[in-house]
Amino acid sequence: MTAPAIATVTGTVHPEDLGRTLMHEHLLIAYPGAESDTIRPGPSAEERFSICVDRIEEMKDLGFRSMLDPCPADLGRDVELMARVAQKTGFQIICATGLYKEAEGGAAYWKFRNAFSPSVEGMTELFVHELTEGIGSTGIRAGIIKVATGPGRMSDYERMVFEAAARASLATGAPITTHTDQGTVGDVQQRLLTELGVPANRIVIGHSCGTSDGEYHLTIARGGSYLGFDRFGLDMLHPDEERIRSLVRLLRAGAGDRVVVSHDSVWCWRGEPAPRAVLEALTETWNPGHFTLRIAPRLRAEGIAEEAIEALLVDNPRRFFAGEKLPPLS
Ligand SMILES: [Zn+2]
Repeated sequence: MTAPAIATVTGTVHPEDLGRTLMHEHLLIAYPGAESDTIRPGPSAEERFSICVDRIEEMKDLGFRSMLDPCPADLGRDVELMARVAQKTGFQIICATGLYKEAEGGAAYWKFRNAFSPSVEGMTELFVHELTEGIGSTGIRAGIIKVATGPGRMSDYERMVFEAAARASLATGAPITTHTDQGTVGDVQQRLLTELGVPANRIVIGHSCGTSDGEYHLTIARGGSYLGFDRFGLDMLHPDEERIRSLVRLLRAGAGDRVVVSHDSVWCWRGEPAPRAVLEALTETWNPGHFTLRIAPRLRAEGIAEEAIEALLVDNPRRFFAGEKLPPLS
């Protein structure tokens, strides 16, 4: 049986051709409202293009061949930019359908619409369309579904998005990747999605490295989903020191086959959601080379084998997209 082909922004690839892959980086993010800040528009389209090409070239130099940009549909997602950059660099970029958390996404639109017809149906229809037909009139298909929760609890609106995501996943076979805040609610996300019929191994619980709670990590790992340790370099939210400690603990617990790593770095913003100097200072560690250049050596120093590190970047993304079963974890 051959694994299903994965949609990238420039055509399909087979999981075994992904190679070294980062599972959560962003070319461009725009918070809803960025368009209102007309005196701080952010970089021009040409500047955005050249910034993204430079980042990808740096990734290629480190041996990467693929990345997932899980920007949901309501967070400034620009799949034509992704396609131009992928074409120029020969890099494989997978984009997402789906919607962001209530507090920072496009909830106003979907809540308004829900007063007239159930948005869960409208969202499902949208997700399925973007996964099978394409995004807008671009013909570019999403390869994954993105869902999100805020800190501490899942809101009713977010639950609606999760239900639509589960329906779309079951209808198309597409996997799901999530956003969590402060390392909370990932266990709730996993339970809800699996109760709705999504196989646990088709889910990445994103930003799981936002907490040092080892029981939380093991609950998700034993539940058979992937954990995203995908905010390396974002010390502002949770120190790398702690992320490394938690990751090493998971690897020693035998969960090294269900962790994916990344940075959640954002290369371009629309508007200026933080002062430019702050964003520039962040990129020192918050960039796609950080794991390879600074975190992997730390893991080696902890006695983690080279193959175990490479598995996080190659085998696990491949197995996740291929939908291969994960063995039980005690
Ligand atoms: Zn992200």
